Amino acid sequence: MSRKGQANGDQRRISPKSDQEIALMRRAGQVVALVLSKLAEAATAGVRTAELDQLAETAIRSFGAKPSFYGLYGYPANICVSVNDEVVHGLPGDRALRDGDIVSFDVGATVDNMIADAAITAEVGRASEEARRLIRVTREALAKGIEQARPGNRVADISRAIQRYAESHGYSVVRKLVGHGVGREMHEPPQVPNFVDGGAQESPELAPGMTLAIEPMVCQGRWQVVQERNGWTYRTKDRSLAAHFEHTIAVTGEGCEILTVRAAAGRGCPIALDQADRLPAQAQAGGSR
Ligand code: MG
Repeated sequence: MSRKGQANGDQRRISPKSDQEIALMRRAGQVVALVLSKLAEAATAGVRTAELDQLAETAIRSFGAKPSFYGLYGYPANICVSVNDEVVHGLPGDRALRDGDIVSFDVGATVDNMIADAAITAEVGRASEEARRLIRVTREALAKGIEQARPGNRVADISRAIQRYAESHGYSVVRKLVGHGVGREMHEPPQVPNFVDGGAQESPELAPGMTLAIEPMVCQGRWQVVQERNGWTYRTKDRSLAAHFEHTIAVTGEGCEILTVRAAAGRGCPIALDQADRLPAQAQAGGSR
C-alpha cells in the first residue's frame, strides 16, 4: 500500500531490521506472493471485487497471517483492488470485472507483527495491446528500481531508475503517492518516490537491514491523480489507464533480497508457512545481486 508523499520527506529515523525480523518478513512475503497469484487467477469477467477481497482474506488467514491493510487508517477492506484508471487504494465493492479490464491488487500480510507488502497488475481475459504494454513496462520499471537497491546507493537512485524507464517508454509516474520503508509498521521512513524532484533534500543512503516497499505507479497519460468520493480510491485525473507493481525488499551486504516472490521450492503448489520456514534463503529470484 502506497503512502502520501510529503515534500519535506519523512524525517523519522530509519531503523534496520534484525535477521529474525527479516525472516518473519520473508514468511509474510511468501503469503503475499501466494495470495497475489491466487488473485490473478481469480480475476475473471463477472467476479465482483468484494469477492476477491474475501478470497484474499481467507487465503491470508489460512496461512496464519493477518491482512495488514484491514483497519489501517480506518481502511475497511483486506486488500486494494484498482481497476483501469484507478491507480491505487481501490476499495473492493460491487463492481464486477469485465473482459479486457486491467486490475491492480495490493496485498499486505502480517506474521508475528512483521509486515510484507506487494502489488501486481493483471489482465481480465485479454486486455488491449496498449494496456499490456503499460503492464509490462511498469513491471520492468520495478525491476529497474530494485536493481539499484544496494548498500552505498541512495533512495534517489531507485527513484531515478524507475522514472527514467517509465518516461522513456512514453508514460508518466504518479507523484502524490510513494513507496516506503516497511516492516514493523506499514509505512516507515524513508519515502521511496518514483521520481526525483531535484530538491535540496538529501536522499537517504541504503544500508544492510533496511526494508523497503518499492512500488512504481505508472500512467498511460498524465501523472495527476484524484481521489474518489469514497475517501480511498485514487484514479488518474485524465482517466487514462494506470498500472502498479510492488515488492518488499531487504537490502543485504551485496544487493537486496526480494521478500515477496514465491520461493522456487513452492512453485506450482501452495506452501504452508511451516514449509516456507525450511525454504532456502534465496526467495530472491531476479533483481537481487
Ligand atoms: Mg506499499
